[in-house]
Amino acid sequence: MDDSQYVECGIHGRRVATYVCQHIVQTLRDGQPRGFWSAEAEAGELYPDSWCSECEAMLQEAGEWNDETEAKAGVTLICSACYE
Ligand SMILES: [Zn+2]
Ligand SMILES: [Zn+2]
Repeated sequence: MDDSQYVECGIHGRRVATYVCQHIVQTLRDGQPRGFWSAEAEAGELYPDSWCSECEAMLQEAGEWNDETEAKAGVTLICSACYE
């Protein structure tokens, strides 16, 4: 599968993008730990999608990622260098 998405980062320029929940984005900004969960990395996938403990709890309840859980988590694309 070669559908890597790219994002234009203000700091790093054009980079591979990864999906994270809005709380992870907040954590990156303020350094407050909110838990960190990742999807199983598929072969060759360097940056699996990640989300926080709160979203993990929501996911357990919902059973899977769908439009509703993704909307609640506020899933966004971020640059892989920022993610690291
Ligand atoms: Zn979250
Ligand atoms: Zn970046």
